Amino acid sequence: MQNLSVHVPAQGQLISLVENVSFTVGAQEIVGLVGESGSGKSVTAMALMGLLDSPGVRITGSARFKGQELVGMPPRLLRRLRGRDIAMIFQDPMTAFTPVYTIGWQIEEQIRAHTSLSRKQAQQRAITLLAEMGVPDPAQMAQRYPHQLSGGLRQRAMIAMALSCNPSLLIADEPTTALDVTVQAQILELVRGLRSSHGSSVLFITHDMGVVAQTCDSTLVLYSGRIAETGPTADLFAHPSHPYTAALLASIPPITGPRPAHLPTIASAPPTPHTRPVGCAFAPRCTYAHTPCTTSQPALVPISAQHAAACVLPTEGTPLPPRLGTVQTAQAHSAPHQTGTTPL
Ligand code: SF4
Repeated sequence: MQNLSVHVPAQGQLISLVENVSFTVGAQEIVGLVGESGSGKSVTAMALMGLLDSPGVRITGSARFKGQELVGMPPRLLRRLRGRDIAMIFQDPMTAFTPVYTIGWQIEEQIRAHTSLSRKQAQQRAITLLAEMGVPDPAQMAQRYPHQLSGGLRQRAMIAMALSCNPSLLIADEPTTALDVTVQAQILELVRGLRSSHGSSVLFITHDMGVVAQTCDSTLVLYSGRIAETGPTADLFAHPSHPYTAALLASIPPITGPRPAHLPTIASAPPTPHTRPVGCAFAPRCTYAHTPCTTSQPALVPISAQHAAACVLPTEGTPLPPRLGTVQTAQAHSAPHQTGTTPL
Protein backbone atom coordinates (compact mmCIF):
# COMPACT_ATOMS: atom_id res chain seq x y z
CA MET A 1 0.00 0.00 0.00
CA GLN A 2 1.47 3.33 -1.04
CA ASN A 3 0.26 6.78 0.07
CA LEU A 4 -3.32 5.65 0.60
CA SER A 5 -5.63 8.52 1.57
CA VAL A 6 -9.36 8.49 2.23
CA HIS A 7 -11.36 11.72 2.03
CA VAL A 8 -15.06 12.12 2.79
CA PRO A 9 -17.32 15.11 2.25
CA ALA A 10 -18.43 16.82 5.47
CA GLN A 11 -19.64 20.31 6.29
CA GLY A 12 -19.18 21.44 2.71
CA GLN A 13 -15.57 20.32 2.40
CA LEU A 14 -13.50 17.17 1.91
CA ILE A 15 -11.89 15.97 5.14
CA SER A 16 -9.23 13.27 5.37
CA LEU A 17 -9.84 10.18 7.51
CA VAL A 18 -6.59 8.55 6.41
CA GLU A 19 -3.56 10.38 4.99
CA ASN A 20 -0.68 8.93 3.00
CA VAL A 21 -0.54 5.56 4.72
CA SER A 22 2.07 3.21 3.24
CA PHE A 23 2.99 -0.32 4.30
CA THR A 24 3.68 -3.81 2.99
CA VAL A 25 2.42 -7.13 4.28
CA GLY A 26 4.99 -9.78 3.34
CA ALA A 27 4.27 -13.45 2.70
CA GLN A 28 3.20 -15.16 5.95
CA GLU A 29 3.81 -11.95 7.87
CA ILE A 30 1.53 -10.56 10.59
CA VAL A 31 1.39 -6.77 10.50
CA GLY A 32 -0.28 -4.90 13.36
CA LEU A 33 -2.26 -1.73 12.68
CA VAL A 34 -2.61 -0.10 16.07
CA GLY A 35 -4.10 3.10 17.46
CA GLU A 36 -6.97 4.55 19.46
CA SER A 37 -10.57 4.58 18.22
CA GLY A 38 -10.86 6.98 15.31
CA SER A 39 -7.20 6.65 14.28
CA GLY A 40 -8.18 5.31 10.84
CA LYS A 41 -7.38 1.60 11.31
CA SER A 42 -10.69 0.18 10.15
CA VAL A 43 -11.12 2.84 7.44
CA THR A 44 -7.75 1.74 6.01
CA ALA A 45 -8.89 -1.91 5.99
CA MET A 46 -12.27 -1.04 4.47
CA ALA A 47 -10.59 0.98 1.73
CA LEU A 48 -8.43 -2.06 0.98
CA MET A 49 -11.45 -4.32 0.75
CA GLY A 50 -13.32 -1.86 -1.48
CA LEU A 51 -16.03 -1.43 1.13
CA LEU A 52 -16.03 2.39 1.09
CA ASP A 53 -18.36 2.97 -1.81
CA SER A 54 -20.57 5.74 -0.38
CA PRO A 55 -21.13 8.73 -2.68
CA GLY A 56 -18.45 11.37 -2.35
CA VAL A 57 -15.79 9.15 -0.73
CA ARG A 58 -12.47 9.76 -2.47
CA ILE A 59 -9.69 7.18 -2.18
CA THR A 60 -6.28 8.06 -3.61
CA GLY A 61 -2.92 6.33 -3.62
CA SER A 62 -2.24 2.72 -4.38
CA ALA A 63 -3.00 -0.67 -2.83
CA ARG A 64 -1.47 -3.49 -4.84
CA PHE A 65 -2.36 -7.11 -4.22
CA LYS A 66 -0.53 -9.79 -6.21
CA GLY A 67 0.23 -7.28 -8.95
CA GLN A 68 -3.36 -5.97 -9.15
CA GLU A 69 -4.33 -2.42 -8.20
CA LEU A 70 -7.22 -2.46 -5.74
CA VAL A 71 -7.85 1.30 -5.72
CA GLY A 72 -10.30 1.99 -8.51
CA MET A 73 -10.85 -1.71 -9.30
CA PRO A 74 -14.39 -2.29 -10.64
CA PRO A 75 -16.74 -3.61 -7.91
CA ARG A 76 -17.41 -6.79 -9.93
CA LEU A 77 -13.69 -7.73 -9.83
CA LEU A 78 -13.33 -6.70 -6.18
CA ARG A 79 -16.22 -8.99 -5.24
CA ARG A 80 -14.32 -11.89 -6.80
CA LEU A 81 -11.24 -11.14 -4.70
CA ARG A 82 -13.15 -10.63 -1.45
CA GLY A 83 -13.65 -13.86 0.43
CA ARG A 84 -11.46 -15.82 -2.01
CA ASP A 85 -8.09 -14.00 -1.95
CA ILE A 86 -8.65 -11.42 0.78
CA ALA A 87 -10.87 -12.31 3.72
CA MET A 88 -11.87 -10.50 6.87
CA ILE A 89 -12.33 -11.64 10.46
CA PHE A 90 -14.73 -9.27 12.18
CA GLN A 91 -14.73 -8.08 15.77
CA ASP A 92 -18.20 -9.40 16.57
CA PRO A 93 -19.08 -12.66 14.80
CA MET A 94 -22.59 -12.47 16.26
CA THR A 95 -23.36 -9.58 13.92
CA ALA A 96 -21.17 -10.85 11.06
CA PHE A 97 -22.99 -14.20 10.80
CA THR A 98 -26.59 -14.27 9.61
CA PRO A 99 -28.68 -15.37 12.61
CA VAL A 100 -31.23 -17.41 10.60
CA TYR A 101 -28.81 -19.89 8.97
CA THR A 102 -26.61 -22.51 10.60
CA ILE A 103 -22.87 -21.90 10.91
CA GLY A 104 -22.13 -24.83 8.60
CA TRP A 105 -24.52 -23.59 5.89
CA GLN A 106 -22.92 -20.13 5.91
CA ILE A 107 -19.40 -21.53 5.55
CA GLU A 108 -20.60 -23.83 2.75
CA GLU A 109 -22.18 -20.90 0.90
CA GLN A 110 -18.91 -18.98 1.06
CA ILE A 111 -17.05 -22.01 -0.35
CA ARG A 112 -19.61 -22.60 -3.11
CA ALA A 113 -19.59 -18.91 -4.10
CA HIS A 114 -15.86 -19.02 -4.85
CA THR A 115 -15.09 -22.62 -5.84
CA SER A 116 -16.58 -25.37 -8.00
CA LEU A 117 -17.06 -27.76 -5.06
CA SER A 118 -20.38 -29.56 -4.80
CA ARG A 119 -22.74 -29.00 -1.84
CA LYS A 120 -21.52 -32.25 -0.26
CA GLN A 121 -17.82 -31.41 -0.76
CA ALA A 122 -18.37 -27.90 0.62
CA GLN A 123 -20.16 -29.40 3.62
CA GLN A 124 -17.20 -31.69 4.29
CA ARG A 125 -14.72 -28.82 3.89
CA ALA A 126 -16.71 -26.67 6.35
CA ILE A 127 -16.54 -29.47 8.94
CA THR A 128 -12.82 -29.99 8.31
CA LEU A 129 -12.16 -26.26 8.75
CA LEU A 130 -14.15 -26.14 11.98
CA ALA A 131 -12.12 -29.10 13.25
CA GLU A 132 -8.85 -27.35 12.28
CA MET A 133 -9.96 -24.29 14.23
CA GLY A 134 -10.35 -26.43 17.34
CA VAL A 135 -14.16 -26.53 17.34
CA PRO A 136 -15.17 -29.68 19.26
CA ASP A 137 -17.60 -32.08 17.54
CA PRO A 138 -17.47 -30.00 14.33
CA ALA A 139 -20.18 -31.95 12.45
CA GLN A 140 -22.64 -31.23 15.26
CA MET A 141 -21.50 -27.61 15.67
CA ALA A 142 -21.98 -27.00 11.94
CA GLN A 143 -25.70 -27.66 12.46
CA ARG A 144 -26.02 -24.93 15.09
CA TYR A 145 -27.14 -21.35 14.67
CA PRO A 146 -24.74 -18.53 15.67
CA HIS A 147 -26.63 -17.76 18.89
CA GLN A 148 -26.20 -21.38 20.02
CA LEU A 149 -22.38 -21.07 20.17
CA SER A 150 -20.23 -19.37 22.80
CA GLY A 151 -18.32 -16.18 21.85
CA GLY A 152 -15.04 -18.11 21.48
CA LEU A 153 -16.61 -20.82 19.29
CA ARG A 154 -18.33 -18.21 17.12
CA GLN A 155 -14.99 -16.47 16.60
CA ARG A 156 -13.37 -19.82 15.65
CA ALA A 157 -16.23 -20.42 13.20
CA MET A 158 -15.69 -16.90 11.78
CA ILE A 159 -11.98 -17.69 11.25
CA ALA A 160 -12.96 -21.02 9.62
CA MET A 161 -15.24 -19.12 7.23
CA ALA A 162 -12.54 -16.54 6.47
CA LEU A 163 -10.08 -19.36 5.67
CA SER A 164 -12.55 -21.41 3.63
CA CYS A 165 -11.07 -20.37 0.27
CA ASN A 166 -7.43 -20.25 1.45
CA PRO A 167 -7.05 -16.46 1.15
CA SER A 168 -3.53 -15.06 0.82
CA LEU A 169 -4.41 -12.12 3.05
CA LEU A 170 -6.57 -12.11 6.16
CA ILE A 171 -7.68 -8.83 7.68
CA ALA A 172 -8.47 -9.37 11.36
CA ASP A 173 -10.35 -6.34 12.71
CA GLU A 174 -10.13 -6.40 16.52
CA PRO A 175 -10.87 -10.17 16.49
CA THR A 176 -10.47 -10.63 20.24
CA THR A 177 -12.02 -7.47 21.69
CA ALA A 178 -15.32 -9.12 22.64
CA LEU A 179 -13.66 -12.17 24.23
CA ASP A 180 -12.47 -12.92 27.74
CA VAL A 181 -8.75 -13.15 28.38
CA THR A 182 -8.43 -16.97 28.21
CA VAL A 183 -10.34 -17.27 24.94
CA GLN A 184 -8.44 -14.24 23.60
CA ALA A 185 -5.14 -16.07 24.19
CA GLN A 186 -6.47 -19.14 22.33
CA ILE A 187 -7.65 -17.07 19.36
CA LEU A 188 -4.31 -15.20 19.18
CA GLU A 189 -2.51 -18.55 19.15
CA LEU A 190 -4.80 -19.65 16.33
CA VAL A 191 -4.10 -16.47 14.31
CA ARG A 192 -0.33 -16.87 14.85
CA GLY A 193 -0.59 -20.44 13.57
CA LEU A 194 -2.41 -19.49 10.36
CA ARG A 195 0.76 -18.53 8.54
CA SER A 196 2.22 -22.02 8.91
CA SER A 197 -1.06 -23.98 8.72
CA HIS A 198 -2.61 -22.02 5.81
CA GLY A 199 0.28 -19.88 4.52
CA SER A 200 -1.73 -16.72 5.20
CA SER A 201 -0.49 -13.18 5.74
CA VAL A 202 -2.44 -11.21 8.32
CA LEU A 203 -3.21 -7.52 8.76
CA PHE A 204 -4.10 -7.39 12.45
CA ILE A 205 -6.10 -4.36 13.57
CA THR A 206 -6.17 -3.64 17.28
CA HIS A 207 -6.00 -0.87 19.87
CA ASP A 208 -4.20 -3.18 22.30
CA MET A 209 -0.38 -2.95 22.35
CA GLY A 210 -0.24 -6.11 24.49
CA VAL A 211 -1.97 -8.05 21.71
CA VAL A 212 0.43 -6.54 19.16
CA ALA A 213 3.39 -7.64 21.24
CA GLN A 214 2.13 -11.22 21.34
CA THR A 215 1.07 -11.47 17.71
CA CYS A 216 2.67 -9.14 15.16
CA ASP A 217 5.99 -9.27 13.31
CA SER A 218 5.85 -5.61 12.43
CA THR A 219 3.72 -2.74 13.65
CA LEU A 220 2.24 0.42 12.23
CA VAL A 221 1.06 2.97 14.80
CA LEU A 222 -1.67 5.24 13.43
CA TYR A 223 -2.67 8.55 14.99
CA SER A 224 -5.42 10.74 13.58
CA GLY A 225 -5.28 8.93 10.24
CA ARG A 226 -1.51 9.32 9.84
CA ILE A 227 1.42 7.02 10.49
CA ALA A 228 3.07 7.98 13.78
CA GLU A 229 5.62 5.18 13.84
CA THR A 230 6.36 1.96 11.98
CA GLY A 231 8.89 -0.82 12.33
CA PRO A 232 9.59 -4.41 13.35
CA THR A 233 7.59 -5.03 16.53
CA ALA A 234 10.58 -5.99 18.68
CA ASP A 235 12.50 -2.91 17.56
CA LEU A 236 9.56 -0.54 18.00
CA PHE A 237 8.79 -1.89 21.48
CA ALA A 238 12.44 -1.75 22.55
CA HIS A 239 13.07 1.74 21.13
CA PRO A 240 9.82 3.69 20.68
CA SER A 241 10.74 6.92 18.93
CA HIS A 242 7.39 8.73 18.82
CA PRO A 243 5.95 10.04 22.12
CA TYR A 244 2.54 8.55 21.19
CA THR A 245 4.00 5.04 20.82
CA ALA A 246 5.97 5.55 24.02
CA ALA A 247 2.78 6.65 25.83
CA LEU A 248 0.83 3.62 24.54
CA LEU A 249 3.62 1.32 25.69
CA ALA A 250 3.87 3.03 29.06
CA SER A 251 0.23 2.12 29.68
CA ILE A 252 1.00 -1.64 29.47
CA PRO A 253 1.85 -3.16 32.86
CA PRO A 254 5.47 -4.42 32.59
CA ILE A 255 6.03 -8.15 33.12
CA THR A 256 9.57 -7.61 34.45
CA GLY A 257 11.37 -4.83 36.29
CA PRO A 258 9.99 -2.43 38.87
CA ARG A 259 6.21 -2.09 39.08
CA PRO A 260 5.04 1.50 38.64
CA ALA A 261 2.72 2.85 41.35
CA HIS A 262 0.35 4.14 38.64
CA LEU A 263 0.03 3.31 34.97
CA PRO A 264 0.31 6.53 32.97
CA THR A 265 -2.55 7.58 30.69
CA ILE A 266 -2.60 9.94 27.71
CA ALA A 267 -4.41 13.15 28.59
CA SER A 268 -7.43 14.29 26.60
CA ALA A 269 -8.64 12.66 23.36
CA PRO A 270 -7.41 12.55 19.76
CA PRO A 271 -8.61 15.35 17.47
CA THR A 272 -11.43 14.69 15.03
CA PRO A 273 -10.58 15.07 11.34
CA HIS A 274 -12.22 18.53 11.54
CA THR A 275 -10.17 19.70 14.49
CA ARG A 276 -6.78 18.24 13.55
CA PRO A 277 -4.26 20.99 14.37
CA VAL A 278 -1.70 22.41 11.97
CA GLY A 279 1.62 20.61 12.38
CA CYS A 280 1.82 17.44 14.46
CA ALA A 281 -1.68 16.09 15.24
CA PHE A 282 -0.40 14.73 18.58
CA ALA A 283 0.98 18.10 19.74
CA PRO A 284 -1.98 19.08 22.02
CA ARG A 285 -1.42 15.86 24.03
CA CYS A 286 2.36 15.61 23.78
CA THR A 287 4.55 16.51 26.75
CA TYR A 288 7.47 17.17 24.35
CA ALA A 289 5.57 19.61 22.08
CA HIS A 290 7.50 22.76 21.19
CA THR A 291 7.40 25.37 18.44
CA PRO A 292 8.63 23.27 15.44
CA CYS A 293 5.87 20.73 16.20
CA THR A 294 3.13 23.27 15.55
CA THR A 295 4.38 24.85 12.35
CA SER A 296 4.51 21.92 9.93
CA GLN A 297 3.55 18.27 9.87
CA PRO A 298 6.59 16.18 10.86
CA ALA A 299 7.84 13.82 8.16
CA LEU A 300 8.55 10.13 8.80
CA VAL A 301 12.26 9.99 9.60
CA PRO A 302 14.25 6.75 9.61
CA ILE A 303 15.36 5.49 13.04
CA SER A 304 16.98 2.35 11.65
CA ALA A 305 16.71 0.27 8.47
CA GLN A 306 12.99 -0.56 8.79
CA HIS A 307 12.01 1.66 11.71
CA ALA A 308 10.68 5.22 11.19
CA ALA A 309 8.81 7.84 13.25
CA ALA A 310 6.91 11.02 12.32
CA CYS A 311 8.36 13.23 15.04
CA VAL A 312 10.90 16.05 15.26
CA LEU A 313 12.64 14.60 18.33
CA PRO A 314 14.82 11.99 16.57
CA THR A 315 16.25 14.63 14.20
CA GLU A 316 16.81 16.98 17.15
CA GLY A 317 18.57 14.17 19.03
CA THR A 318 16.16 14.21 21.99
CA PRO A 319 15.84 10.69 23.43
CA LEU A 320 12.60 9.42 25.02
CA PRO A 321 12.87 8.03 28.54
CA PRO A 322 13.41 4.24 28.64
CA ARG A 323 10.42 2.02 29.40
CA LEU A 324 10.05 0.46 32.82
CA GLY A 325 10.42 -3.34 32.57
CA THR A 326 9.95 -5.28 29.32
CA VAL A 327 7.12 -6.53 27.17
CA GLN A 328 7.59 -9.91 25.52
CA THR A 329 7.11 -9.54 21.78
CA ALA A 330 6.01 -12.06 19.15
CA GLN A 331 9.53 -12.57 17.82
CA ALA A 332 10.58 -13.80 21.23
CA HIS A 333 8.27 -16.79 21.11
CA SER A 334 7.08 -17.44 17.56
CA ALA A 335 8.44 -18.74 14.29
CA PRO A 336 11.13 -16.55 12.77
CA HIS A 337 9.99 -13.79 10.42
CA GLN A 338 9.31 -15.20 6.96
CA THR A 339 10.19 -13.47 3.74
CA GLY A 340 9.09 -14.15 0.18
CA THR A 341 6.66 -12.78 -2.33
CA THR A 342 4.65 -9.75 -1.30
CA PRO A 343 0.91 -10.28 -1.62
CA LEU A 344 0.07 -6.70 -0.68
FE1 SF4 B 1 5.40 15.55 20.22
FE2 SF4 B 1 6.43 17.33 18.56
FE3 SF4 B 1 7.01 14.78 18.22
FE4 SF4 B 1 4.58 15.69 17.67
S1 SF4 B 1 6.48 16.21 16.62
S2 SF4 B 1 5.07 13.83 18.79
S3 SF4 B 1 4.33 17.22 19.26
S4 SF4 B 1 7.54 16.05 19.98
